[in-house]
Amino acid sequence: MSILPIIQPDNPVLRKKAVRVTTFDDKKFQQLIDDMVETLIAAPGVGLAAPQVAVSQRLIVVRLPDASEEDRQEYGPLAGVVHVFANPKIIKASKEMVKGVEGCLSLPGYLGEVERHKSVVVTGQDRQGKDIRIKADGWFARVFQHEIDHLEGVLFTDRTEKVWRSDGDEKDEA
Ligand code: ZN
Repeated sequence: MSILPIIQPDNPVLRKKAVRVTTFDDKKFQQLIDDMVETLIAAPGVGLAAPQVAVSQRLIVVRLPDASEEDRQEYGPLAGVVHVFANPKIIKASKEMVKGVEGCLSLPGYLGEVERHKSVVVTGQDRQGKDIRIKADGWFARVFQHEIDHLEGVLFTDRTEKVWRSDGDEKDEA
Protein backbone atom coordinates (compact mmCIF):
# COMPACT_ATOMS: atom_id res chain seq x y z
CA MET A 1 0.00 0.00 0.00
CA SER A 2 1.10 3.54 -0.43
CA ILE A 3 0.09 7.04 0.48
CA LEU A 4 -1.04 8.98 -2.58
CA PRO A 5 -0.48 12.68 -3.15
CA ILE A 6 -3.66 14.72 -2.64
CA ILE A 7 -4.15 17.24 -5.42
CA GLN A 8 -5.24 20.85 -5.08
CA PRO A 9 -7.44 23.01 -7.33
CA ASP A 10 -4.53 23.87 -9.64
CA ASN A 11 -4.95 20.31 -10.96
CA PRO A 12 -7.92 20.23 -13.39
CA VAL A 13 -8.87 16.63 -12.41
CA LEU A 14 -10.44 18.07 -9.25
CA ARG A 15 -12.94 20.00 -11.38
CA LYS A 16 -13.87 17.18 -13.74
CA LYS A 17 -16.99 15.03 -13.58
CA ALA A 18 -15.74 11.56 -12.65
CA VAL A 19 -16.69 8.44 -14.62
CA ARG A 20 -18.56 5.42 -13.30
CA VAL A 21 -16.70 2.40 -11.99
CA THR A 22 -17.57 -0.61 -14.15
CA THR A 23 -14.79 -3.10 -13.41
CA PHE A 24 -14.29 -4.27 -9.85
CA ASP A 25 -12.33 -7.47 -10.37
CA ASP A 26 -9.17 -5.61 -11.23
CA LYS A 27 -5.89 -5.45 -9.34
CA LYS A 28 -5.36 -1.78 -10.03
CA PHE A 29 -8.82 -0.83 -8.78
CA GLN A 30 -8.42 -2.87 -5.58
CA GLN A 31 -5.00 -1.31 -5.04
CA LEU A 32 -6.50 2.16 -5.51
CA ILE A 33 -9.04 1.48 -2.74
CA ASP A 34 -6.33 0.27 -0.34
CA ASP A 35 -4.17 3.28 -1.15
CA MET A 36 -7.05 5.71 -0.70
CA VAL A 37 -7.87 4.25 2.72
CA GLU A 38 -4.23 4.49 3.74
CA THR A 39 -4.02 8.08 2.45
CA LEU A 40 -7.20 9.04 4.32
CA ILE A 41 -5.95 7.62 7.60
CA ALA A 42 -2.52 9.19 7.20
CA ALA A 43 -3.89 12.66 6.33
CA PRO A 44 -5.84 12.28 8.67
CA GLY A 45 -9.24 12.97 7.18
CA VAL A 46 -12.83 11.77 7.34
CA GLY A 47 -13.45 11.27 3.64
CA LEU A 48 -11.59 11.04 0.36
CA ALA A 49 -12.83 10.92 -3.23
CA ALA A 50 -10.78 9.41 -6.07
CA PRO A 51 -10.52 12.74 -7.97
CA GLN A 52 -8.60 14.09 -4.95
CA VAL A 53 -5.83 11.62 -5.77
CA ALA A 54 -6.06 12.52 -9.47
CA VAL A 55 -8.16 9.49 -10.47
CA SER A 56 -11.34 10.61 -12.21
CA GLN A 57 -13.54 7.70 -11.09
CA ARG A 58 -16.72 7.57 -9.01
CA LEU A 59 -15.19 6.14 -5.85
CA ILE A 60 -15.15 7.48 -2.30
CA VAL A 61 -13.94 6.28 1.10
CA VAL A 62 -15.36 7.57 4.37
CA ARG A 63 -13.98 6.93 7.83
CA LEU A 64 -14.97 8.87 10.92
CA PRO A 65 -12.27 9.25 13.59
CA ASP A 66 -11.90 6.77 16.42
CA ALA A 67 -8.69 7.99 17.96
CA SER A 68 -10.15 9.17 21.24
CA GLU A 69 -12.85 8.18 23.65
CA GLU A 70 -14.56 11.44 22.70
CA ASP A 71 -14.71 10.39 19.03
CA ARG A 72 -16.18 7.04 19.97
CA GLN A 73 -18.85 8.76 22.05
CA GLU A 74 -19.66 11.16 19.25
CA TYR A 75 -19.82 8.66 16.40
CA GLY A 76 -20.79 5.48 18.21
CA PRO A 77 -20.46 2.30 16.14
CA LEU A 78 -19.54 4.37 13.04
CA ALA A 79 -16.26 5.54 14.59
CA GLY A 80 -13.27 4.24 12.67
CA VAL A 81 -15.27 2.04 10.28
CA VAL A 82 -14.14 2.32 6.66
CA HIS A 83 -16.95 2.75 4.14
CA VAL A 84 -16.03 2.20 0.50
CA PHE A 85 -18.61 3.34 -2.04
CA ALA A 86 -18.24 3.02 -5.79
CA ASN A 87 -20.79 4.95 -7.86
CA PRO A 88 -22.38 6.53 -4.77
CA LYS A 89 -25.73 8.17 -5.34
CA ILE A 90 -27.99 10.09 -2.99
CA ILE A 91 -31.43 8.59 -3.52
CA LYS A 92 -33.14 10.37 -0.65
CA ALA A 93 -32.32 13.54 1.24
CA SER A 94 -34.06 15.14 4.20
CA LYS A 95 -35.82 18.43 3.63
CA GLU A 96 -34.18 19.60 6.80
CA MET A 97 -30.88 21.37 6.17
CA VAL A 98 -28.14 22.02 8.70
CA LYS A 99 -25.24 24.42 8.66
CA GLY A 100 -21.83 23.14 9.69
CA VAL A 101 -18.14 23.87 9.36
CA GLU A 102 -16.23 21.88 6.73
CA GLY A 103 -12.69 21.57 5.56
CA CYS A 104 -11.22 19.73 2.59
CA LEU A 105 -7.97 17.82 2.16
CA SER A 106 -7.64 19.48 -1.26
CA LEU A 107 -7.92 22.97 0.26
CA PRO A 108 -5.69 22.68 3.30
CA GLY A 109 -5.92 25.56 5.73
CA TYR A 110 -9.43 26.66 4.76
CA LEU A 111 -12.74 26.16 6.51
CA GLY A 112 -16.23 27.19 5.49
CA GLU A 113 -19.78 27.08 6.70
CA VAL A 114 -21.85 24.89 4.40
CA GLU A 115 -25.52 24.00 4.45
CA ARG A 116 -26.21 20.29 3.89
CA HIS A 117 -29.12 17.89 4.13
CA LYS A 118 -29.36 16.63 7.70
CA SER A 119 -29.72 13.05 6.53
CA VAL A 120 -29.30 11.19 3.25
CA VAL A 121 -29.73 7.68 1.91
CA VAL A 122 -26.82 6.67 -0.31
CA THR A 123 -26.69 3.69 -2.66
CA GLY A 124 -23.71 2.34 -4.55
CA GLN A 125 -21.47 -0.70 -4.83
CA ASP A 126 -18.89 -2.10 -2.44
CA ARG A 127 -15.37 -2.99 -3.50
CA GLN A 128 -16.58 -6.29 -4.98
CA GLY A 129 -19.36 -4.62 -6.95
CA LYS A 130 -22.18 -5.73 -4.67
CA ASP A 131 -25.05 -3.27 -4.23
CA ILE A 132 -24.99 -1.42 -0.91
CA ARG A 133 -27.14 1.21 0.73
CA ILE A 134 -26.64 3.29 3.84
CA LYS A 135 -28.60 5.88 5.77
CA ALA A 136 -26.35 8.63 7.05
CA ASP A 137 -27.24 11.31 9.55
CA GLY A 138 -25.56 14.43 10.91
CA TRP A 139 -21.81 14.64 10.42
CA PHE A 140 -21.74 11.30 8.59
CA ALA A 141 -24.35 12.61 6.10
CA ARG A 142 -22.28 15.78 5.63
CA VAL A 143 -19.17 13.79 4.72
CA PHE A 144 -21.07 11.74 2.11
CA GLN A 145 -22.49 14.91 0.52
CA HIS A 146 -19.03 16.52 0.47
CA GLU A 147 -17.41 13.45 -1.15
CA ILE A 148 -20.16 12.96 -3.73
CA ASP A 149 -19.75 16.63 -4.68
CA HIS A 150 -16.10 15.86 -5.49
CA LEU A 151 -17.30 13.36 -8.13
CA GLU A 152 -19.07 16.25 -9.87
CA GLY A 153 -16.06 18.53 -9.62
CA VAL A 154 -17.72 20.60 -6.88
CA LEU A 155 -15.78 21.93 -3.88
CA PHE A 156 -17.29 23.09 -0.59
CA THR A 157 -16.20 26.64 -1.38
CA ASP A 158 -18.69 26.59 -4.30
CA ARG A 159 -21.50 26.13 -1.81
CA THR A 160 -20.76 28.97 0.58
CA GLU A 161 -19.51 32.50 0.80
CA LYS A 162 -18.32 32.03 4.34
CA VAL A 163 -14.77 30.72 3.93
CA TRP A 164 -11.93 31.56 6.27
CA ARG A 165 -8.38 30.52 6.97
CA SER A 166 -7.75 28.11 9.79
CA ASP A 167 -4.47 27.85 11.57
CA GLY A 168 -5.33 24.73 13.51
CA ASP A 169 -4.49 21.20 12.44
CA GLU A 170 -7.94 19.99 11.38
CA LYS A 171 -8.76 16.33 11.70
CA ASP A 172 -12.18 16.65 10.09
CA GLU A 173 -11.11 17.41 6.55
CA ALA A 174 -12.63 15.58 3.66
ZN1 ZN B 1 -12.96 17.59 0.01
